[in-house]
Amino acid sequence: MIEFRNVEKRYPDGTLAVERLNLEIPFGKTTVFVGPSGCGKTTSLRMINRMIAPSSGQIMIDGTDAAQINTGELRRSIGYVIQNAGLFPHRTVLQNIMTVPRLNGVPKAQAAERARLLMHTVGLDESFANKFPTQLSGGQQQRVGVARALAAEPSVLLMDEPFSALDPIVRTELQDEFMRLGAELGTTIVFVTHDIDEAVKVGDRIAVFAKGGQLAQFDTPAKILTQ
Ligand code: ADP
Ligand code: ADP
Repeated sequence: MIEFRNVEKRYPDGTLAVERLNLEIPFGKTTVFVGPSGCGKTTSLRMINRMIAPSSGQIMIDGTDAAQINTGELRRSIGYVIQNAGLFPHRTVLQNIMTVPRLNGVPKAQAAERARLLMHTVGLDESFANKFPTQLSGGQQQRVGVARALAAEPSVLLMDEPFSALDPIVRTELQDEFMRLGAELGTTIVFVTHDIDEAVKVGDRIAVFAKGGQLAQFDTPAKILTQ
């Protein structure tokens, strides 16, 4: 599991973004951080792979303090997907998905074959392989973003509002597919959203953040809905 132990984050300007956060995120499930804008969700997410360092407290990953794990290794084992996919504009869909395996020295043919499989996994057919990001809709770009993150075979996938920029229909479609994908892959996913409906839909566990960066509730969707 990923364990937050008394984690606090105070930014240099004095903003206390996360206050005494204690949380146990199970492996192999989707845990959602939900709450209003500014309550510390993104900051908490980014502390998991140390894009942001906590001011105090510890984040333990499978029993090891993340501060003791080499940054390169952390970034390799923890994937990251953001709102507007952040695809490389001058690379095709296939090249985008192959990026990390190629950097890791996987031979081109093998990386391409795996990239094609991942395209299938995220619901993109062959015809997209040689297209560039600008030729894709927002939803298609997000699919490529997820495939690119999965290509690195992360043990943990961090997703920050991955569907928030999409129109409602595409959004619902991706939420539905995403639920299937998460369960199928058994990847540990930490997912940030400000939308409680989305949280309940995609999450196995839900951490409700309150304004001021405190944890208000942490439970299963069923329990959250009945309280
Ligand atoms: P959320 O993801 O829930 O919207 P954030 O983690 O982005 O919340 O931000 C939590 C709080 O920290 C907010 O008050 C935000 O303005 C502040 N904050 C975020 N990043 C910085 C930063 N780099 N410097 C100072 N304050 C920040
Ligand atoms: P998002 O809502 O998409 O997470 P934000 O608008 O919260 O994006 O933040 C965009 C960037 O600005 C982030 O890198 C964040 O750390 C930084 N940031 C957010 N709030 C503040 C703040 N109050 N002071 C300085 N930087 C901030």
